[in-house]
Amino acid sequence: MNMKICLMPGDGIGPEIVEQAVAVLDKVAAKFGHTVEYSNALIGGVAIDATGNPLPDETVAACKAADAVLLGAVGGPKWDTLPGDRRPEKGLLGIRKALGLFANLRPAKLFPELAQACFLRPDIVKDGIDVMVVRELTGCIYFGQPVGREMRDGKMTAFNTMVYDEEEVRRIARLAFDAAMKREKRLCSVDKANVLEVSRLWREVVEEVAKEYPEVELTHMYVDNAAMQLVRNPNQFDVIVTGNLFGDILSDEAAVITGSIGMLPSASLGAGGPGLYEPIHGSAPDIAGQNKANPLATILSVAMMLRYAFSLNDEAQAIENAVQRVLQEGYRTGDIMEEGKSLVGCNTMGNLVAERI
Ligand code: NAD
Repeated sequence: MNMKICLMPGDGIGPEIVEQAVAVLDKVAAKFGHTVEYSNALIGGVAIDATGNPLPDETVAACKAADAVLLGAVGGPKWDTLPGDRRPEKGLLGIRKALGLFANLRPAKLFPELAQACFLRPDIVKDGIDVMVVRELTGCIYFGQPVGREMRDGKMTAFNTMVYDEEEVRRIARLAFDAAMKREKRLCSVDKANVLEVSRLWREVVEEVAKEYPEVELTHMYVDNAAMQLVRNPNQFDVIVTGNLFGDILSDEAAVITGSIGMLPSASLGAGGPGLYEPIHGSAPDIAGQNKANPLATILSVAMMLRYAFSLNDEAQAIENAVQRVLQEGYRTGDIMEEGKSLVGCNTMGNLVAERI
C-alpha cells in the first residue's frame, strides 16, 4: 500500500514528537512492505509566524490531498495575546471544520506497566484499562440554534438548544459500531433518555443502526451512571458512543483516570475524507526543545491511523506491542518516570520503539 500522509508538527514539542512518530511509521512500513509519501504543512503558531494565518489555504489543500493527517500540537505563550480569531487554536478548529470531521475517537488506555500512575485503586486496574470513547463533534448543544439571551419576566435569561437530527446520530452510530467491530464488539451508547427528547431519538436511531451490526453487543446507559461506572469499573466498557456535550466530559474523565497525558492518542474522523490523528496533550511549551517530551501518544496516534485510515490492523498492533515492550523493559520519559526505571529522552524513546517493531 502507498500511504499519503500530511504532517503538521505545529508548535512546542510538536516537531520533536512527530519526528519520532514518523521514524516508527517508516519502520513499520518497511517491515510490512508499504510505502509512505509525506507532505508537510503549517498550522498554529508556526503558521502565524510564517503567513499571519493559523490555517493557511495551502495547509487545507495539503490535508485534503492526503489519505490521513498527523498533527503534533499547537499553541504557546508567544501567541497567547493575539486576538481570538488569529490564535493558534483557531487553526485546529478550522482544519476540523474544513475536513468535515464529525467524530472524535479517544482511547483511554492504561498499560498495566503504568498502573502506578492511575488514579484508581490498584485492584480495579490490575489488568490495565482499555476504553474507547467516540464523541460526536459537530452537533448538540454547542452548535444548536436558537442560542442567545433575552429578558423574560424582567429577568435576563440565557438559552442554548440541544438538537440532533436522525442523520447526525446515524453516522456517528455507524462509526462507533465500526470501531467496536475492530475491538471487542461491545458498544455502550450513553444518553439521558429518561429526561431529554434528543436522547430518546438518539436511542431509537442507535437501535436501528444496531440491526446492521448483529455481532456487536449494544447496551445503553444514562450519562450520570456512565460517569460513575467509568471510575467504579472502567473495564466493563469497550466502546462508548455519545453526543458532543456528554462526550466532552466523559472523554476527559476517561483520559485523566489513566494518569498519563503523554500516552493518549486520538483520531478525528469524517465522512470518507482524510482523518486527523493527534495526541490529546498540548504543545507543552515548558519542555519544548529539551528532548524531554514523551512521544508515545503521537506514536500511538500513528497506530490509530494505520487501523482507522488504512485498516492495517497487524501494523497497528505491531506499534502497540512495541510500545508495551519498551514499557515492560522499564524505559520511561520524565512524565511517566517511577523509581527504579530508566529515564530516557524523546529521541531515545522513539528509537527504542522503532527498534522493537
Ligand atoms: P499541555 O498538554 O501542553 O501540558 C500540560 C502539562 O503536561 C505540562 O506540564 C507539559 O509539560 C506536560 N506534557 C504534555 N504533553 C507531554 C508529553 N508528550 N510529554 C511530557 N510531558 C507532557 O497543556 P497546557 O500547558 O495547558 O497547554 C500548552 C499549550 O498547548 C497551550 O497553548 C494550549 O492552548 C495548547 N494546547 C493544544 C492542544 C492541541 O494542540 N490539541 C491541546 C491542549 C492544549
